[in-house]
Amino acid sequence: MKLYEYEARDLFDEAKIPLNKWIVAKNYDEAMNNYKLLKFPIVVKAQVLVGGRGKAGGVKIANNEEELKMHVKNILGMNIKGEKVNSVILAEAAQIKKELYISIIVDRNSRSPLILASKEGGVDIEEVAKKDPHKIMKIKIDPFIGVRDYMVRRVESFLSISNINSILKGLYFTFKNYECELVEINPLALTDNDELVAIDAKIVIDDSALFRLNKFKNRISSELSYYENIARKYGFSYVEQEGDIGIIGNGAGLTMTTMDLVQYYGGRPANFLDIGGGADAEIVYNALSILLEQDRIKGIFINILGGITRCDEVAAGIIKAIKNKGVNKNIVVRMIGTNEEMGKKMLKEYNIDVFDEMEVAAKEIVNLVYKN
Ligand code: GDP
Ligand code: MN
Repeated sequence: MKLYEYEARDLFDEAKIPLNKWIVAKNYDEAMNNYKLLKFPIVVKAQVLVGGRGKAGGVKIANNEEELKMHVKNILGMNIKGEKVNSVILAEAAQIKKELYISIIVDRNSRSPLILASKEGGVDIEEVAKKDPHKIMKIKIDPFIGVRDYMVRRVESFLSISNINSILKGLYFTFKNYECELVEINPLALTDNDELVAIDAKIVIDDSALFRLNKFKNRISSELSYYENIARKYGFSYVEQEGDIGIIGNGAGLTMTTMDLVQYYGGRPANFLDIGGGADAEIVYNALSILLEQDRIKGIFINILGGITRCDEVAAGIIKAIKNKGVNKNIVVRMIGTNEEMGKKMLKEYNIDVFDEMEVAAKEIVNLVYKN
């Protein structure tokens, strides 16, 4: 999950990474009431999750109150790459001599955290990586050892600076503490009086770690859809697709196979939804409810291989959904394994056909959904 710059700045403050003095404002009045805490020139920054705000006109420097009013008015409500600006940061503009780049990422190739540093800050680092890879320094971090002084010295020598120790260690503290995929300062400003100041802050937290982070676990992620956010609260792995046949399975492998089968027989899967192992009636009910609520979904295929998961529990969950939500969609169930007979009998009373073979069931849901 990507954080807004003001959220990332909070974490950098906590890690004692020096930032240019800043405030956040959710509307014009709040900005105008509080900007006097800062000295001009003041930079006004759109708060959106997409990058490249500068180029899109979402970062402007104001030299006086008049300019500040104008920029705040223009930037609030602006649309940047499809994202509406709902808040701004006001910050004391740093006097910049040089824009540098520093980040820590999870590097899948080396299976470790990796420090990236470059003298080419401010710009798109991906471009630098493509055109001039030698301009980026990479240092692997052994998680058992962390960031050591010799790494700090290597980075300092590469960037021709002498004071990045606390910033680099602060970055790694944030990276570890908040289970990040990325912590990035771009640009890290070298000011006219040779101080290093972070003037931008970017953090991406590993979604799988969110449940452990009290600070963020209830944060609605605007990268996720409405139903993906709901599913996350329930703890399901749920990913939306563009199709119209809802899919529920237990286990990621079976769920993906189910999607493939539906596709193979000419259907379009609407989602991936794995209820996991040992799901009880309540979990099945919640999962099914998410799909039943969506008009775009015309039919639902539930594919369960009973092991620890009991078929009678699954049936009870389906029946609860039918009773509470009503059913305006075709539902096809394939269910075998533990307590299969009991589950089948329960569903039969509600006129739901249960199949033994998933190929047959997949064909059936495709037929039902597209026959008219
Ligand atoms: P991004 O475009 O979304 O990455 O937003 P940034 O916060 O990185 O700002 C983009 C650019 O605006 C930076 O590369 C700087 O050139 C400029 N900028 C941002 N903050 C300041 C500041 O405090 N002082 C000065 N002089 N320029 C700034
Ligand atoms: Mn930036």
